[in-house]
Amino acid sequence: MRMREAVYSIRFRLLGSLFVLLGLSLVIWMYGLWSFERDRYIKNSGTEALRAGQTIEQTLRRAMLENDWDRIRRSVGDIQQIMQPEMISILAFDGRVAVSTDDSLIGIRLDRNTMAGCTTCHNGRQELPAAGSAFLETEAGPILRNTIKISNAPECYGCHAADRETLGVVIYDTAFDGTFAMLHDVLLRSVLTGLFTFLVVIVVLSCIIQRFVHRPLHQLMNGFIHVGRGNFDYWVEVRTKGEFREMADQFNVMSRAIGRSFVEIKHKNWETASLYAFVRQLSQAIEWSKLQGMITNLLFETFSVEQVVLLLRQEEREEKVVEVSRWRENDQRLSHREFDSRKEIDGMPAWIMTEYQKWRQDALNSPVFSPDGTRAVLPLTSKKMAIGMFCLQRGRDNPFSEAEKKLIMAVGEQISIAIANARLYRMAITDGLTDLYAKRYGESIIRKLLDAYEPAENNGFCVLMLDLDHFKEVNDTHGHQVGDEVLVQIAELIRGSIRFDDIACRFGGEEFIVLVLGAPEVGREAASRLRQAIEQHDFRCGAGLSLRNTVSIGVAAFPQHGKTAEAVVAAADQALYEAKNSGRNRIVCLDGHAYSKGLPD
Ligand code: GH3
Ligand code: MG
Ligand code: MG
Repeated sequence: MRMREAVYSIRFRLLGSLFVLLGLSLVIWMYGLWSFERDRYIKNSGTEALRAGQTIEQTLRRAMLENDWDRIRRSVGDIQQIMQPEMISILAFDGRVAVSTDDSLIGIRLDRNTMAGCTTCHNGRQELPAAGSAFLETEAGPILRNTIKISNAPECYGCHAADRETLGVVIYDTAFDGTFAMLHDVLLRSVLTGLFTFLVVIVVLSCIIQRFVHRPLHQLMNGFIHVGRGNFDYWVEVRTKGEFREMADQFNVMSRAIGRSFVEIKHKNWETASLYAFVRQLSQAIEWSKLQGMITNLLFETFSVEQVVLLLRQEEREEKVVEVSRWRENDQRLSHREFDSRKEIDGMPAWIMTEYQKWRQDALNSPVFSPDGTRAVLPLTSKKMAIGMFCLQRGRDNPFSEAEKKLIMAVGEQISIAIANARLYRMAITDGLTDLYAKRYGESIIRKLLDAYEPAENNGFCVLMLDLDHFKEVNDTHGHQVGDEVLVQIAELIRGSIRFDDIACRFGGEEFIVLVLGAPEVGREAASRLRQAIEQHDFRCGAGLSLRNTVSIGVAAFPQHGKTAEAVVAAADQALYEAKNSGRNRIVCLDGHAYSKGLPD
């Protein structure tokens, strides 16, 4: 603790005040005691001296009546030996010292108006009381001088005139240095005892204040410091019973309550922030294909799970279920597969299968958390329709917290909304019959690819324009229904022959466009694969009908064969026209400015 803080501390203030108060009261008490004792001693000594003087006066009166001065002197000597006063003198009425234990004074006349030791009492006054005492500071030390008048009495009239009131004075001096020394001794002892008592009291008080005030306060203060730093688990332990213990108990209750609220707020904050981040990311993808991967990755990262499995039912073909999953061991890679929901799924963990079976029967209506809290299964619904489910698997020692469970549910709702939106969007951009992208979407994709083109990155693309050969005949021979079935199978073949990143669109009627990312050779190869796949496919339509079909494909590349969307599509159309004109079931590629017809398959 710094000096300034120490000075303002309650212990210092209490001890300081007590120190001053105790010191003052001790000084006052000792001074009072000492002055009382001193006055009592003086008074006692004065009384004793007075009595001694009166005794002398009474003792000597008989000898004086007999005018026996020897006897008077002997008596004075005896009294001197017994009482041991500093001096006994008997003054005649004219102030002359008639008898004295101090021989040097005998015969000397004491002038009451001038002599030291007389002026203290007389001080110009003519008459004094019959007896009196006064302190005198002499060279030999302080003395108490007692004077006793020898009053005139009828028996004295023989020698003294009756009108004389006083016949003489007995002076009885008692030395007071011994008494003063004793009083000083008493004072010294009192001071030392007081000082010792004072120190003991201060030490004891300091211990009491330390134990019962300072320590509990310090412990409470520590509690405040810890809570101030956000450590709400800190427990204030005050052992001393009383108000401070109660304060500590209340403090502990309060800090726990604040801690709980703080954790709740933190969780809420985390929940809101995570949900916001989740929704923000989700809103960036509306395309069905991207969304699946994004949902899987977001779930994986937001909840730090070991495994995510996302199962989504395909709207157009309800029996088809898409599975997108990610495992921690697989780093960032996503695994995609499609399966028939009516059949068993290979390689799916048993706990997912159990919930999947329920979901398949529309019996999974609410989130399911495993008893150890490490697994979560959440059904996804849109307008009360089961559209999918996701499963999360955490490590054994890392179960989901309550806040995370709440977030999983909130996130589930957002995923359902995003999927529903993506489905609407997908419906808007896809062709209802073939489920391939519609023409308008295909054109917008071409524009996007053009915008993203960087010559340095060499990220050009190819436009493959497909037109079925003699398709009119199929319609005419077998009817439109069969024609439609052929178109659906053609779309399946296209989907199965292109890469994940390539885009296939139905451009109208029985014409298709496939956008293949890469150089002209890549487009040529893709076109070749497509042509072969269609040529070799056995189109089974209706009841037992088996058909064969071929396709002509025109291939143009960006930027080699056109600098704009329209130019490159027109170039592909031109190539298709060439393919048709040169005999059908073939590929024509625009290679530079020259046409090269056909490709060795
Ligand atoms: P080719 O292309 O080889 O020159 O001959 P084609 O018979 O295929 O001629 P064309 O491409 O001009 O014919 C288009 C035909 O495709 C016309 C129409 O009967 C058929 N068609 C277009 N759209 C659909 C469709 O949605 N369903 C069905 N069943 N037939 C369609
Ligand atoms: Mg056509
Ligand atoms: Mg045609």
